[in-house]
Amino acid sequence: MSLTDSQFMRYSRHLLMDDIGEEGQTKLLNAHVLIVGLGGLGCPVSLYLAAAGIGQLSLCDGDTVDQSNLQRQVLYTPEDCGKPKVACAQQRLNALNPESQINVYNENVTGQILAHDYSLVVDCTDNLDARQQLNAHCHQQKISFVSASALGWEGQLVAFDFAHNTSLCLNCIIDKDSAEPTMNCGNSGVIGPVLGAMGSLQATTVIRILLGYFKQHGQVQRYDGKNGQWLSLNAQADKQCAICGTQ
Ligand SMILES: [Zn+2]
Repeated sequence: MSLTDSQFMRYSRHLLMDDIGEEGQTKLLNAHVLIVGLGGLGCPVSLYLAAAGIGQLSLCDGDTVDQSNLQRQVLYTPEDCGKPKVACAQQRLNALNPESQINVYNENVTGQILAHDYSLVVDCTDNLDARQQLNAHCHQQKISFVSASALGWEGQLVAFDFAHNTSLCLNCIIDKDSAEPTMNCGNSGVIGPVLGAMGSLQATTVIRILLGYFKQHGQVQRYDGKNGQWLSLNAQADKQCAICGTQ
């Protein structure tokens, strides 16, 4: 497949880069990415991926837009309140890049939605059960998985290249005894741009994985927005892990 004249213009800032070029842009145009959750993380992730020319994006979220979302969920406007998030997102992303095919699922993630052939899955939920379901599916199907979360001033991101490494997964590093699962943005608050930072990092990680430049399987990136600090941690595989464990 060769690029059209309009694609040469649209993606010229990618094409100028030696490590992307026409070959890399074609990889992005041929990719199909599932984004689960169209809230504070899913908004920047979907905007940047549609703008970058990801050929097909599937969006999954059962929520409607609420006025309290507008502080951070940058896809939506006051007129969208009460409407399904995925429908509003589809309209906005179609306007941004008519060439990117946007599929929508106005429901929580199910096995049927996961059964499609995705290049990569992005976890933008604030729900531990959904996160664990996505991790288990991606590990089993050897699909790359990019997960992030944010609460208050802090964000966290971790990605897994399950096609090349299946010995460490999100389930290994979730602290099952932590109080955090009961805390979420709805009851504890969050800074909008912290979600923007983590969502941008997720979108960057998606592009890196699709282009073949990702080498940090299971490395956790933490951002402390209040103190302006980043931290990288190398997580350890849990041999007893129910998903990837060897014992
Ligand atoms: Zn594991």
